[in-house]
Amino acid sequence: MTDSQASQVANSDSSSEEVAANMDKENVVLRVDDLVKSFGALVATDHATFEVERGTITGLIGPNGAGKSTLFNLISGFYESDAGRVEVNGTDVTDMEPYDIADHGLIRTFQTPRKLEGMTVREAMLVGPREQPGESFIKLFTDPESVRQREQQNLDDAEQILEDFEIDHLATQPATKISGGQLKLVELARAMLAEPEILLLDEPAAGVNPTLRNKLAEQIRRLNEQGTTFLLIEHDMEFVMSLADPVIVLDRGHVLMEGTPDEVQNDERVIDAYLGG
Ligand code: ADP
Ligand code: MG
Repeated sequence: MTDSQASQVANSDSSSEEVAANMDKENVVLRVDDLVKSFGALVATDHATFEVERGTITGLIGPNGAGKSTLFNLISGFYESDAGRVEVNGTDVTDMEPYDIADHGLIRTFQTPRKLEGMTVREAMLVGPREQPGESFIKLFTDPESVRQREQQNLDDAEQILEDFEIDHLATQPATKISGGQLKLVELARAMLAEPEILLLDEPAAGVNPTLRNKLAEQIRRLNEQGTTFLLIEHDMEFVMSLADPVIVLDRGHVLMEGTPDEVQNDERVIDAYLGG
């Protein structure tokens, strides 16, 4: 029996047409509806449907290859879906470019941070913020003071966030010279500078040492308390289970279940999915 046949059998056991996620949320910031993405014969995203409630840290877990990163790529506009719909704050962003989706308040980080050639950490930080008046050419002439103020504000915010993460000593380092763990922190810090409503983090703790990992968790909690919603992919179960509620489980591109960390950790289907993967 192939994997996909096995998954069909498993799904037919538990009424396959039922949506496994909780779709009864009151204040939805992100809605993913019946999303599909194939790479050749491989169905990486298989009718994924779920919602993220505003104000939550929602976990997204699943075995390696379950399609978590692909889902992030689809949601944030880096991949084009074959079918389905993505809504941010009720706006259909399915066919939008990443930059437009960011303007609607959804920012993501990458599992493998992008290379930031020729930039210092501080410069890399300043690539992030959206809606800078300096991007409007006319404003440079009509309102140079607001452009200058905004740039100074961005610089101050960048310094503050680097300090919060205790990586301000890296500000003048070439972004390509810092460690993998530090780069993950810079990615996160940079994303925060864009003041997202919802931030999608793809394995932020991977390759980050325990001390920095605790700082990372603290920062995520602090930002969440200040109003940022998080959708968090994480392989480190302790990290994700201590931060996230609810947790959504993805298996072979499909939402297997959603529940509290306790419910998820004690669910037979989830245990089977991890052992099978
Ligand atoms: P996860 O993040 O849950 O580990 P991924 O979303 O990275 O899983 O991958 C899901 C499946 O899709 C895997 O089998 C992977 O090899 C495949 N995949 C992901 N991206 C691509 C791509 N750009 N081209 C071909 N296959 C891909
Ligand atoms: Mg991944």
